[in-house]
Amino acid sequence: MSIPAVFISIAILSCVMSVAVLGSLFQAHVPGVRLWSVASGLLALTSALLLTGTSDIVVATSSSLLLVASLLGVQGFRQFLNTRASYAWEYAATAFILALLIYWTFVSPHVDARSALVSGFIAYVRFNIGWTVLRYRPPGRPKYAYYFVSIAASLGAVVHAVRSVAYALGLAHERMFLEPTPLNVLFLGMATLTLPSLSVGMVLLAHDRLADRMERLATYDDLTGVLARRAFIARAEAVVAAAAATKSPLSIAILDIDNFKGVNDRYGHASGDFVLAHVASLISRSVRANDVVGRIGGEEFALLLPLASREEAGRLVDRLRDIVATSGSCVPNRDVVPTLSAGVDAFTQGDTLASVMARADAALYVAKASGRNCVVVASDQEALATNHRNRLDTEAANG
Ligand code: GH3
Ligand code: MG
Ligand code: MG
Repeated sequence: MSIPAVFISIAILSCVMSVAVLGSLFQAHVPGVRLWSVASGLLALTSALLLTGTSDIVVATSSSLLLVASLLGVQGFRQFLNTRASYAWEYAATAFILALLIYWTFVSPHVDARSALVSGFIAYVRFNIGWTVLRYRPPGRPKYAYYFVSIAASLGAVVHAVRSVAYALGLAHERMFLEPTPLNVLFLGMATLTLPSLSVGMVLLAHDRLADRMERLATYDDLTGVLARRAFIARAEAVVAAAAATKSPLSIAILDIDNFKGVNDRYGHASGDFVLAHVASLISRSVRANDVVGRIGGEEFALLLPLASREEAGRLVDRLRDIVATSGSCVPNRDVVPTLSAGVDAFTQGDTLASVMARADAALYVAKASGRNCVVVASDQEALATNHRNRLDTEAANG
């Protein structure tokens, strides 16, 4: 077996394995994976064709398949990164290059020109992949997989660019396609090495996307989009520790939708879900950038307010209450205007998240008992509780 044949066999094996691994990710519907899989399959086919011989028709067919596979590969990356997937001028350039390939194979055979052309095109595609992956890398994800792909693609691009220039300038020459000249063996070897790295990179990216989905599912509440209870507590503990270290003020509010069970009972669970999503969206849109919002129970939210004293927090939360109460009906064709009650308290020295949440919860209880659609700041609660007891006494006395 000649050295080029050994490299081509390695390429086939690597592409077939990529198809198998990427195929296992079809069910997960990761964008771009199908295109990568088709591109890898076409590359395996291209390489297998080259093993059958180097007649004009085989070379022209495999080179054309190589161009199409490369284009599909880069489009897979663009689809994965949710950027524009195709450009008309790329299709036009590919068609033109295919025409040149046929011309230099059958009309006026020119092996060097053909090699320069194909490698030039692949260099463009690989550089494009390397750049696109860095440019559109999703923020907040680990960099490793993205850098890995970018480096693998760029190394392949450099190899093909050098090959293209060498043939274009007449620095390299071959009479027959894939003639095992030392330079050709070097090019082929390096190109073959970068290909499996790129395939591994695709799998790394797909897995990163799946990990991202799982983390999102565990972090955010599906219905409302705010932090789920566990994620809220974890985030809040970190904020509490930071505030304690810098001795900066920190407050917390527990907010609960009023008479929510009545909405479910009267209009159905789906309408209740509408109300929940609506209220959560109003809260999220109206809080300050560093405030932390979580859904900690059925129709109960917690709001952590860094740098806010008890009184400031009371005012901010009362503004939220007002925004919700004046937001109008939020269920299509139903007259449902939600209101909120809330309890607020601030952290003092020696407090834990649990102890302040318990006090805010007690304040919320007072807000409910005081007629709902109101905010009670913890220090006010005693007065309000007394007021409420007095009101009940008066009502009882009046019969
Ligand atoms: P209050 O003003 O005292 O808070 O009364 P309430 O009716 O809001 O409170 P209660 O605790 O009696 O009822 C809460 C209801 O929330 C009961 C439960 O079925 C409903 N609930 C909890 N989670 C969901 C959800 O995800 N969707 C819907 N639609 N309802 C939910
Ligand atoms: Mg409620
Ligand atoms: Mg409740």
